[in-house]
Amino acid sequence: EDIITSKDVHLSYGNVEALHGISLDFEEKELTALIGPSGCGKSTFLRCLNRMNDDIPNIHITGDIKFEGQNIYDSKMDLVELRKEVGMVFQQPSPFPFSVYDNIAYGLRIAGIKDKELIDHRVEESLKQAAIWKETKDNLDRNAQAFSGGQQQRICIARALAVRPKVVLLDEPTSALDPISSSEIEETLLELKHEFTFIMVTHNLQQASRISDYTAFLMNGDLIEYGKTA
Ligand code: ADP
Ligand code: ADP
Repeated sequence: EDIITSKDVHLSYGNVEALHGISLDFEEKELTALIGPSGCGKSTFLRCLNRMNDDIPNIHITGDIKFEGQNIYDSKMDLVELRKEVGMVFQQPSPFPFSVYDNIAYGLRIAGIKDKELIDHRVEESLKQAAIWKETKDNLDRNAQAFSGGQQQRICIARALAVRPKVVLLDEPTSALDPISSSEIEETLLELKHEFTFIMVTHNLQQASRISDYTAFLMNGDLIEYGKTA
């Protein structure tokens, strides 16, 4: 079953076309890697999938992108709702400069959850899913930016998971990390991929082959190869 479908996506920054008609569908609860040389449009395409690049001046996007059959570029699309379903983790670990607890609670509050017990429950659940509960459970008040890079990235993963998204977009989630943190995060993604749909940009072919089910290869704004990673 496809959870996100995209058809003939063209994207220009001003008069420079960065995506030349990409059509690519994503299977539910599979991990798809987007690979290709630097500047080929991986990150640009990834950000189309939850409309993260809407605010860039002079951007022009055409084509058809659907989440669960619903056109996400429809004027009636609720962006808060979309980003609750399609979350994001960035390359640079970027927790907000406040406590671990409030980092996780932030998105929950935006999603309209006010109940303290429910927030507590989700904070614990998502920190466990991101395998950072042991290090944070006695330090939930500590500033998230006081943790190591790998730990900060796990807090960001927990923050993304806490609202129980169906899809998580990951933009080179391990490339700013040391090799041990990086392989530990790969392990975590492998464990979680039966619960979530992951779409991950990486420039690391070995990483794509270790953890992805499907691989899409982009070059110069075109999709040139797609299939089961194996
Ligand atoms: P990748 O993620 O594969 O490295 P990007 O999606 O970042 O590639 O970039 C694709 C192309 O779009 C590149 O030529 C890049 O310079 C250009 N680009 C990316 N972001 C912007 C932007 N905000 N404004 C103008 N051009 C951009
Ligand atoms: P679980 O992870 O066990 O499925 P939930 O996180 O969905 O549990 O819910 C935890 C508790 O909070 C449950 O008792 C549930 O009924 C309650 N709850 C769920 N959603 C809300 C909400 N939006 N506001 C207040 N309480 C809620």
